[in-house]
Amino acid sequence: MKQDKRILTFTLHLLGRFMIFFAILLLIGFALQSKMNDSLNREVEKFSTHQGETLAFVYHNLLQTEIAELSKTAALIAAEKITPANGVQSISDKGQLGGLLDIHGQSIWGVALPAEARLQCARTLQGEPSWRYYKDVGLVVMVPVYQGNTVRYVLCKLHTNSSLRDKSSPFQFADKKDEENILLYDTRTQQVVVPFENYTDSPFYDADKDSPLGLDQLLAKLDSAQEAAIFDPKINADYVLYASPIPDTNFIAIGYREWRSVVTGITNIHLIVLWVFGLLVVLFCVFILYAFTNQVAAEESTALREARDEALRANQAKSDFLANMSHEIRTPLNAILGMNEMIMREASGKLKKYAFNVKSAGETLLSIINDILDFSKIESGKMEIVPVSYSLSSVLNDVYNMVNYKAGQKGLAFHMNVDPDIPDALIGDEVRLRQVVVNILNNAVKYTPNGSVTFTVKSQGTAENDTLELEFITQDTGIGIREEDKEKLFAKFQRLDIEKNRNIEGTGLGLAITVKLTEMMQGSISVDSIYGEGSTFTIRIPQQVEKYDPIGDFNTRIEAALREEEHYQESFTAPQSHILVVDDNDMNLTVVESLLEKTRVHIHTATSGKECLQLIAQNHYDIVFLDHMMPEMDGIETLQRAKTMTDSPCQHTPFIALTANAVAGVKEMFLAKGFNDYLAKPVDGKTLEHMVQKYLPPEKIEAAGENPSTTSQQIDLPTAMQYCGNDEEMQKKFLSMFVTRREAVTKLLEKDLTADNIADYTTHVHALKSTALSIGGVKLSEAAKALEMAGHAYCDGPEEEKADNLQYIKEHHGEAMELYAKLADEAKVRFSIQS
Ligand code: ADP
Repeated sequence: MKQDKRILTFTLHLLGRFMIFFAILLLIGFALQSKMNDSLNREVEKFSTHQGETLAFVYHNLLQTEIAELSKTAALIAAEKITPANGVQSISDKGQLGGLLDIHGQSIWGVALPAEARLQCARTLQGEPSWRYYKDVGLVVMVPVYQGNTVRYVLCKLHTNSSLRDKSSPFQFADKKDEENILLYDTRTQQVVVPFENYTDSPFYDADKDSPLGLDQLLAKLDSAQEAAIFDPKINADYVLYASPIPDTNFIAIGYREWRSVVTGITNIHLIVLWVFGLLVVLFCVFILYAFTNQVAAEESTALREARDEALRANQAKSDFLANMSHEIRTPLNAILGMNEMIMREASGKLKKYAFNVKSAGETLLSIINDILDFSKIESGKMEIVPVSYSLSSVLNDVYNMVNYKAGQKGLAFHMNVDPDIPDALIGDEVRLRQVVVNILNNAVKYTPNGSVTFTVKSQGTAENDTLELEFITQDTGIGIREEDKEKLFAKFQRLDIEKNRNIEGTGLGLAITVKLTEMMQGSISVDSIYGEGSTFTIRIPQQVEKYDPIGDFNTRIEAALREEEHYQESFTAPQSHILVVDDNDMNLTVVESLLEKTRVHIHTATSGKECLQLIAQNHYDIVFLDHMMPEMDGIETLQRAKTMTDSPCQHTPFIALTANAVAGVKEMFLAKGFNDYLAKPVDGKTLEHMVQKYLPPEKIEAAGENPSTTSQQIDLPTAMQYCGNDEEMQKKFLSMFVTRREAVTKLLEKDLTADNIADYTTHVHALKSTALSIGGVKLSEAAKALEMAGHAYCDGPEEEKADNLQYIKEHHGEAMELYAKLADEAKVRFSIQS
C-alpha cells in the first residue's frame, strides 16, 4: 500500500518534471526557431545576393556579346563588304529587328524606331554603343558605323517585348532554372523592362505599383551595395528577391526565386538546425535519465533515511526498554536475593547449600543485567562520566574485597601491590573506575584455572593541572589469549576460545564495556598475553588530584579493613530505634524487614509517599528509607515535602534513597536532592546493616562492632523492660539483685554438681533461667534452660541416656557461668551496677 503510493507519487513527480522540461524545451524551440529563421533568412539573403551578382555578370556578358556582334556587322558595312541592306538583314531574326539610321536618327534601312530613340542615336553617333528600352516597343541596341573616323550611320537592333520574353531570346538565360524568374529594370524610366512571361500574374507582382513586391526595399539596399537580396516574410513569404545593376547600363537585373529552393541549397544551415535539434533531443534524454536516476536515488535515500530513522527509533526503544528494565528486573531480583539471604541465615545443611546456589546464580544474573544495561546506556549515549571527589584507597579496598573473595574460592592466590606514593584524594568517576578495574580482575580470576592473579597499581608522574595517570596492571597465570584473537577481544558479545571457555559464564560484554568506559574517561587499555601462560591487562586512566596526601602502605590498610570486617561479623542490635521504610512494593518492605530482623530495630513501613508524610508528621523515626520510583509521589518529591514540614518530629531524621536505578551519577543526584545517602537495590544485608549503623544515633546502638565471643550483648533491654513494667528503676533494681547474687548462685550450682545432686541442680538452674530472663539475660536464660532440660532428662529420662545428659551438664555448665559473668560485666558498664 505504502509502496503503491510511493510509486504513484514518484510517477507523478516524474511526469511533472517531464512537463516542465517539455515546456522549457518548447520555449527554447520557439526562441531558437525565430533565431534560426532570422539567421536562415540572413543566410538566404546572403546566398541570393551572390546570385544577383552572377545575374548582373551574365547580363553584362550578353550585352557585350550583342554589341560585339552588331559592331562586327557595322564594321563590315563600313568596309563596304556588305551592303547596309544585307547587314540589317543579317542581324534581324524573328522579333529582333535590325535597322540602319542616318545621322538624324531617320531610318534608312529596316526597322523604324520611335521618335524618342533619336536621343539614343545622337549619343551613339559620338562613337559609343548604347542600349535602351522603350516601353511598348522593346530593347534597342545601337552601334556606330564608321566611315573613316566619322560616324556615318547607326546600326540598331530592336528586341521586341515579345522576343525578349521568348525563351530563345539571348536575354533569357539558357540555364535558368524553372523556379527562377528574371526581370530587367530600367533605372531611368523606373520600369520593369523585361518582364518574364505571366509576370503580372505572378504572386509577387504588385499591381498598384506595377512593379514587383519589395522592389523599393531592394532598391534602397542597392543604394549602398553593389548587389542585394531581400527576403522579408512580411512582404512575401515565399520568394526571395535579388538584384544587381548591370555594369555600363541603366539596368538592374532582378531575380526571383522560391525561398524553399534557396534553402535547399543552404545545406549547412539545415545541418546546423539538425544538429541543434539532435543535441536538444540528446539533452532531453539525458535530462530524463538524470531526473529518473535522481528520483530513484532520492527515493532510495528517502527509504534509507526512513529505514535509518526507524532503526534509530527501534534502537532508542530498545535502549529505553532496557533502561526501564533496570527497575523492573532489579525489583523482583531484590526480593529473591533478599529472601534468599534470610533463608541462608536460617537454614543449615543442604538447604543452606541450595540457598547459596540461588545467591550465586542471582548475583550472576544481576551482573549480566547490569552489563546489558550499561552497554545499552553507552550505546544510546546516555552513559555519563561523573567526576566526584573520592578516596582511591576505599575503591581499592572494595576491589580487594571482591576479588580476594572470588580468588580465594577458586584457590587462587591474589596479590596486590599499590605504590604508596599515589595521592589518595582524587577526582574522577569512582563508580566507573571501580567497574573497569573489577571487570578486568574478575576476568583474570575467571580465566585462570590455577596459579595467581597479581594486581599492581601505579601512577605515572603528576603532570600539569594536577592530573596524574593511574595505571592498573592485572597479571594472571591463566589460559591466555591467542595472538589472532586479540583483535576480537574488545568487540561486543565476542567470546574467545569457546571450546575452552564453554563452562565459564559470560556474555562477552564485559571487555566491550570496559573499553568504552575507559575511553570515556580519556584512558586506554592494552593487553599482552602468551597463550597457555597468562595475560596482562594494563589500563591507564587520567585522574585529577584533589590532595597530595599519599595513599601510604595500602597492604597494611587492607589488613586493617579485613580485621574490621571480622569485627563486624555479628550484627548489632538497636532495639530502641525506629526506622521507616517506604516502598510501593510490599515484597521490598518484607525484604528490608527481614534483613534487619536480627538487629531488633523497629521497622515501620509505608507504601506511598503520601502515607510516609502522614507517618513522619506524627512519629519520630531514626532513619527513613525512601524508595525513589513510586507512583503518584516519588521519593524525591516526598523528601522535598517532608523538608517543608518544619514541625515534624522527623525534622533531623536522615533520609536514605532506596532505588534499583544504579546508573552513573545517581548518588550525586540524590545527595543534591537532599538525601543523606543512597542505597542500591537489591539491598544486601551487610550493606543495609552498615547503613543503618552509620545513621542511627550511637546511643541507640548496642554492642555494635565488638567481638562476639567476649562482648555480644547479654542484657536485652526490651525484654527486661517487659518484665518490670517498663519501669527503668525497677529494671535496674532487679539487675542489681541478679548481679549481686551471682557468686552465691554459682557456688550453689557448683556444689550441686560436685555432689552429683542433679535433682537440686535442676531446680536451681530452673530458677536461674527465670530470673535471668526477667532482667533481659536472654542468652543466659536459654543456656540455663538447656541445662535444666538435661537435668530433667537425667532424673526422669531413660537410664541409657543418663550418662549423656550428665556429660552435657558438666560440659555446658561452665559456659552458662561464663555468660553469667559477662552479664555482670555488661551490667557494670551499661547500667553502672556494682556487683
Ligand atoms: P565474558 O563475559 O565472556 O567474560 P568479556 O568481554 O569480559 O566477556 O571477555 C571477552 C572474552 O575475552 C572472554 O570470553 C575470554 O575469551 C577473553 N578473555 C577476557 N579476559 C581474559 C583473560 N584474563 N584471560 C584469557 N582470556 C580472557
